[in-house]
Order: sequence, then structure tokens, then C-alpha cells
Amino acid sequence: MSTCGTLYVVATPIGNLDDISARALRVLREVALIAAEDTRHSQRLLQHFGIGTPLAACHEHNERDQGGRFIGRLLAGEDVALISDAGTPLISDPGFHLVRSARAAGIAVVPVPGACALIAALSAAGLPSDRFIFEGFLPAKALGRRQRLEALREEPRTLLFYEAPHRLLESVEDMLAVFGPERPALLARELTKTFETLKGLPLAELREFIAADSNQQRGECVLLVGGWQAPEGEEAISVESLRVLDLLLAEMPVKRAAALAAEITGVRKNLLYQAALERQGKA
Ligand code: SAM
Repeated sequence: MSTCGTLYVVATPIGNLDDISARALRVLREVALIAAEDTRHSQRLLQHFGIGTPLAACHEHNERDQGGRFIGRLLAGEDVALISDAGTPLISDPGFHLVRSARAAGIAVVPVPGACALIAALSAAGLPSDRFIFEGFLPAKALGRRQRLEALREEPRTLLFYEAPHRLLESVEDMLAVFGPERPALLARELTKTFETLKGLPLAELREFIAADSNQQRGECVLLVGGWQAPEGEEAISVESLRVLDLLLAEMPVKRAAALAAEITGVRKNLLYQAALERQGKA
């Protein structure tokens, strides 16, 4: 039987302290040590719940170096809890290296789920939630941000982004430029807190809403954008399929390229043939 301790990955609230689970409180009380992103911040949380478990720092700057210390305690049989400043650790928060090292060392890693801003936003957004992608934070610089958004232009799944309040407006403006004014979107701001706002509008209107009220550019926020949909009545060919077609067109006659591209991409041959003629200026 293993004598190792267990690493618990514990979600904490993203605003409303009532969102902590009974199980999270029990685990935080019972473990030998809590690895926290910011010990001073987490000390206040623990104090609020009357928990006296010792804390040790585990943030992005020391996680790789200090990870060994936590692994040592776990291997010695002690239980450790990992928490971040808010929400679920590892979700745009530290913890990945520690969890990976623990698993590699054969230590049991147990999630204690709870609040997560992206899931809370998605659950109330009314945008398709059967398939979605989480993009974390967009690059801070305009060029990088545009490039990332361009790569997502024809992404059919609902898109989720975390964004800093001072970059919210410029990010929405870039989304408007790339995805177009009609794309449904939603701003989920200050979730679970006093000034919680969920505003769902097409991107052009959402931009106006944010620009017109500086309060909307404060606090924490999640941005959601509906996935790309092929224009009605048109069977669209994705950028990726057109790239395959272009590569083949450079090597072989139109008919053969369209047939092969159809086999590779699953797009109808006639559609690709038509697109190939257009690309060669013959249509
Ligand atoms: N681990 C956290 C989670 O599970 O959601 C995310 C941590 S990340 C460093 C912080 C970002 O999450 C914020 O900039 C914001 O985009 C989002 N966020 C966190 N709390 C939020 C809240 N109460 N309302 C809206 N967004 C929030």
C-alpha cells in the first residue's frame, strides 16, 4: 500500500465566499500544508473560515524550484492542498508543474472542484455550450492579439477569453474587426460579486455598450464569442481546406487537385472544383 500523501487541487471562490464547498473547507482544514499562489491573500480566506493550516508559496516564479519541497512532503506521507488566488488552480493560474511532478512521482492528485470564471460565464451565457474552446488571455500587444484572433475567425465552437479590464475595449474592437459586427458575444463581469453584469449583444453593440460606460471597463471579466457559422444557403469551405486545395493546385491539374482535396478534407468535390477554378481565375 502507498504511504504517500495526496495532493488536493482545491477550487476557491471567484468573489462570493459562500461559493466555497463544504468539501474544500474540510480538505483545507485537514491537510498538513497548503500551497498557495499568494500566501497573504489566501491567509485572509483561511482566517475568514477559521482555518489555521500552514501556507507555503507556490506561484509561477517559484513553482519549478520549490515544487520539490512539496513533493518531498507528499512522498513523506503528508497531504497537501493546492489553491490559487481565486477559482480553480491551473486555469490561467499556477499549479501545472506541481501537478505534473506529483503525477510523475506516482502521487495521487485529487481535484476538489468549485468556482471557475469561464464555466460560470458559459453556464449563464445562452451561447452554445456543447462545444467550446477556452483561449485564456489574449496577447497583450495588438499585433499578437490580432494574429491569435485571425486564427480563430472560422472556429465554429463558442470562444471564451479572460481579459484584463484595461484591455477590454481594445480586445473587443479587435474581435469586432476580425469576427464582424453581427457575431453574438457576451461580457461576463464581476461574476458572483456585487456589480455582477452579464451583457449579451452582437459585437458591434457590445463595443458601444463598453465604450459608453467606463464602469464596464473595471473589475474582472470573461468574454464569450459565438462560434463561426457558414453563411446561410452557402456551403462554406474552411480556411484549412482551402489551404490543402492551394497546395495541391500548385502540384497538379485542377480536376485532380479538387478530387484529392475532397478526399483529404471531406468537403464535396464539386464545391472544391468550383473554388479551384475561382482561385485560378477561370470561373
Ligand atoms: N483560476 C481562475 C478561474 O478558475 O477562473 C482564473 C484566474 S485568472 C488569473 C483571472 C481571470 O479570470 C480574470 O482576469 C478574469 O478574466 C477571470 N475572472 C476571475 N474571477 C472573475 C469574476 N469574478 N468575474 C469575471 N471574471 C473573472
